[in-house]
Amino acid sequence: MQETKKVAFIGLGAMGWGIAGNLALAARDGRIDSPVTVWNRTTERAERHAAEFGTCCAYVISDLSKVDVIISCLPTSVEVTAMAEKLAPDLKSGTLWIDCTSGDPNTTKNIAYKLREVGVKMIDCPVSGGPQGAASGQLTAMVGGDDCQEARHIISLFARNKIVDCGPIGAGHAVKAMNNCLNAAHIIVAGEALLALTKCGVQPEVALNAINASSGRSLQTEVRIPTEILTRKFDYGFKLGLMLKDVRTAVEILGSREEMCNDDCLCILPVVKNMMKKAVDDQGYHADYTCVLRTLEREAGVELHAASSTEPKII
Ligand code: NDP
Repeated sequence: MQETKKVAFIGLGAMGWGIAGNLALAARDGRIDSPVTVWNRTTERAERHAAEFGTCCAYVISDLSKVDVIISCLPTSVEVTAMAEKLAPDLKSGTLWIDCTSGDPNTTKNIAYKLREVGVKMIDCPVSGGPQGAASGQLTAMVGGDDCQEARHIISLFARNKIVDCGPIGAGHAVKAMNNCLNAAHIIVAGEALLALTKCGVQPEVALNAINASSGRSLQTEVRIPTEILTRKFDYGFKLGLMLKDVRTAVEILGSREEMCNDDCLCILPVVKNMMKKAVDDQGYHADYTCVLRTLEREAGVELHAASSTEPKII
């Protein structure tokens, strides 16, 4: 069994709550040497985590400075930069920082550079699998930076689906941004297709029954649209504003090499970004990302429902 040292977790949001929970379980059965310390901007949430999982609530960020491993899961690299700036002067040399935020590759390189100056090693480790995957420990991790045994051991405690070494620091964040851009593109294009079919009298469930046994299927047609849209729940647990952030990152990466962007091709990602931006303007940062289809529905004048009636619902 690989031994680890003191671990602290920053950011108990929809993802961080479950990731830190799995680390706490590992501490309980001896796969981590000591209880996990958790810090959250809203302290009451860290207190609740401590009560539920037996973690130690940190009331001030200086409580985090003496640990060996810091794991962050914050909205964007802006918040990670701010935390790193506050903590860096007091961190021990040799500390490992694992950033599970879906961040910006270039900002992450800068943070890693500054942390290296005080002897702290950073790796980016964005994850996929949603709040359910975080709760069950079945995430996929996309790792950027030098591989190290200690990081891999810690990551394996919450990313039991798959761990992929993507390349140098920032590479994990680049892959994650593209993954989410594909996720957004797939739900938008599948939504448009189903709205068009609804308009010509084919019920969404009937269409999905055929598509999901055919070449046009995706995670969105197989799972997300049936469970979140046709049921009208719109409650996957990932904010529209965070999805827009990831799609923006993907488009920035695409645009960072001018020869890769022109009007005739390489234009799909920017269209996805514009669609997500429209949805955020329409429904706000905090709406679930699946609500992008509400915006499409409004444009189309029809909604996607499970088959309770034979008539499409016109809005
Ligand atoms: P949430 O909005 O649920 O949680 C955000 C967390 O960050 C909260 O703990 C919040 O604290 C904290 N926070 C916000 N602003 C600040 C700040 N200025 N300083 C310190 N802490 C702050 O986000 P998620 O958990 O959904 O997402 C976290 C990251 O994981 C994002 O990068 C997201 O893109 C990514 N991700 C999300 C997935 C999902 O399905 N939800 C899936 C995969 C990746 P407080 O409680 O005080 O608000």
